[in-house]
Amino acid sequence: MPAEDAIAPAPKWTAEDEFDESYEEKEGPKPPIIMVWRNVLLMGLLHMGAVYGLFLIPSAKPFTLIWSKYHLLPSITPASRGRPGGIRRTSSAPPCLNSISCMLRVRCSGHHGRSSQVNDIYEWSRDHRVHHKYSETDADPHNATRGFFFSHVGWLLVRKHPDVIEKGRKLELTDLKADGVVMFQRRQVFSLRLFLWFIQFYKPSVVIMCFVVPSLVPWLLWGESLWVAYFLPAVLRYTVGLNATWLVNSAAHMWGNRPYDSNINPRENRFVAFSAIGEGFHNYHHTFPFDYSTSEYGCKLNLTTCFIDLMCFLRLARDPKRVSSEAINARVQRTGDGSHRSG
Ligand SMILES: [Zn+2]
Ligand SMILES: [Zn+2]
Repeated sequence: MPAEDAIAPAPKWTAEDEFDESYEEKEGPKPPIIMVWRNVLLMGLLHMGAVYGLFLIPSAKPFTLIWSKYHLLPSITPASRGRPGGIRRTSSAPPCLNSISCMLRVRCSGHHGRSSQVNDIYEWSRDHRVHHKYSETDADPHNATRGFFFSHVGWLLVRKHPDVIEKGRKLELTDLKADGVVMFQRRQVFSLRLFLWFIQFYKPSVVIMCFVVPSLVPWLLWGESLWVAYFLPAVLRYTVGLNATWLVNSAAHMWGNRPYDSNINPRENRFVAFSAIGEGFHNYHHTFPFDYSTSEYGCKLNLTTCFIDLMCFLRLARDPKRVSSEAINARVQRTGDGSHRSG
């Protein structure tokens, strides 16, 4: 990032979020695509179940529909998903902010699993930094130049490109390694039984939090059929949440304006900002990756920023990084596409 765009000397680890222009894709044929058939099967079944769930909507009880909608919001809010909200925004944030986000993630790791397909915090953050550093190249885990399907979900169905693995290994990730909660989850060694339950039985917790609890509540509390309770508040809701999150990697890298930097692919996409509660201001986010708000406009269409602000107000997080309006305006003038608006 050019010096005039920075508000203050950035912490050392934020360099891991900055685009690396020196990287060049290897010449010659691309490596073969290796399918991960387990993920193909699971995703196929999940999406078929979600489509079937749509047909069950007319036969569902009103409380079940309310529960499905109510449960969808927590499943994509920062406290529970952590992936876009907590980790995307804290992947270059101070360790203190990282810690609280991670604690929230551990608390709701079932939802976290939904978002990132049972990757732990460390792995998700590492892949996300590689995404920023080598955006739209072979070393980008969800390289959007490979098309909408690949960047949306296809990248989860195949083995990573060797450059993604190689570049990921080279990141220092010192802040993550210094973060106790992240490494507890990573190494699965924590003495408290509660955390052990979440960590050791991490994947079962995904099943419990994402499928069992959302299904049992309507069945037990207001007599919904278990069949409907499984396919609507569990399968359909989970699938909608997944796709809303994936749009950040696909749609927000393809469609929208580029008011901050017209030289990069990520766009400002208000639909994605709405569906992923604040993650659609993606041209801004890739231009200023260390800004916790991922947007120039604070809480507007950005529930995740409200949540982090609340955590700061409660002193559970502190020192969130922001970009000054002078730096934003300078960047808009220098590299924007002319579509910048003041609000
Ligand atoms: Zn990001
Ligand atoms: Zn991106």
